[in-house]
Amino acid sequence: MDIRSNTSVPAFSSDEKQRVVCIHCNHTNEISRKAISVTCQSCRKALRLEEVRVKDYQARRIVETCSTVTVERKGDLRAEKIMCAGAVLRGKIKGDVVSTGPVLIGPEAELTGGVTAPTIAIPSGAVLEGFYRIGPTPAPAEQSNVAA
Ligand SMILES: [Zn+2]
Repeated sequence: MDIRSNTSVPAFSSDEKQRVVCIHCNHTNEISRKAISVTCQSCRKALRLEEVRVKDYQARRIVETCSTVTVERKGDLRAEKIMCAGAVLRGKIKGDVVSTGPVLIGPEAELTGGVTAPTIAIPSGAVLEGFYRIGPTPAPAEQSNVAA
């Protein structure tokens, strides 16, 4: 006889979901927390959800994740483009960072490349070279002609 009861199980309906903002089109996707990868419901691009952590020299063409990118102090990341939902940069980074979330830069960071992010934290000591566009993400083109 099965005496297990579901009455004490908390409702997971909302907790099981996470919101993932697409780094390509800014669409907010609601997906299961267990998902490792997902396809954006708006632009149909595959979204990577795992955190990227760079602890040594890594050269990649494009780094993209809907999670955060962390470059450790000994990390040296070379990429044409780094697209993420947030970044913690403590080491060397060469490439353009486009983040939908905050970018935190460590005091020993050396960053060569542009940063596009809603907010950025730069301590004294960090070496930065590039163009920085900080502020709310502009609306995607198809949403920018909404009548005011
Ligand atoms: Zn998308």
